[in-house]
Amino acid sequence: MLELVCATSNRGKLREFRLASGADVSIAGCPAVHCPETGATFEANALQKALCYHRANPAAWLFADDSGLEVDALGGAPGIHSARFAGPAASDRENNMLLLRSLARVPPERRTARFVCTIAVLHDGRLAETFRGTVEGRILRRHSGSLGFGYDPLFYCPPLRASFGLTPAHAKWQHSHRGRAFRAMLAWLRDNQ
Ligand code: IMP
Repeated sequence: MLELVCATSNRGKLREFRLASGADVSIAGCPAVHCPETGATFEANALQKALCYHRANPAAWLFADDSGLEVDALGGAPGIHSARFAGPAASDRENNMLLLRSLARVPPERRTARFVCTIAVLHDGRLAETFRGTVEGRILRRHSGSLGFGYDPLFYCPPLRASFGLTPAHAKWQHSHRGRAFRAMLAWLRDNQ
């Protein structure tokens, strides 16, 4: 049995990770910890979060993820600042409105973007491996659907022919950055734990 602790205060993420893991994997949550996010990359922030959680929850195997949206026409923004694009306490709606305004003059063929997710895995408090998953798509001109969270209603996923806002969780997981990074992590752990 793979026994992992997931370093997140986001119950939705924990539920997604649990649903996606097989019977040979047990994923425990842990009390939320307030961690600084001062890294310059998704990898640095995932590692920072993992180390911060490990100090409070010293599990043998622990993982943390960091994720965001990179928009090509904005030079990769909002990137690691995705949660705070419109300000430190911005809501999903405010972030989405700012994204639409920022791309108001950008034509469909230049609205390419990707979600990125990085997972850092610690073993006995030391970095064991990092995993990166991405999903390519483009930013719509208006909201489409209300499923998911964050930028999902504005993100069109070509293989699904729909926005993530119209895509049920299990189908999103097959294509999503988080699903891809998580499956890569599980495959590695099955070989290395
Ligand atoms: P974090 O990984 O919890 O720091 O999330 C960063 C931010 O990126 C979130 O608040 C969302 O705005 C955005 N984001 C990350 N993953 C997704 C996703 O799957 N759908 C929509 N937005 C996402």
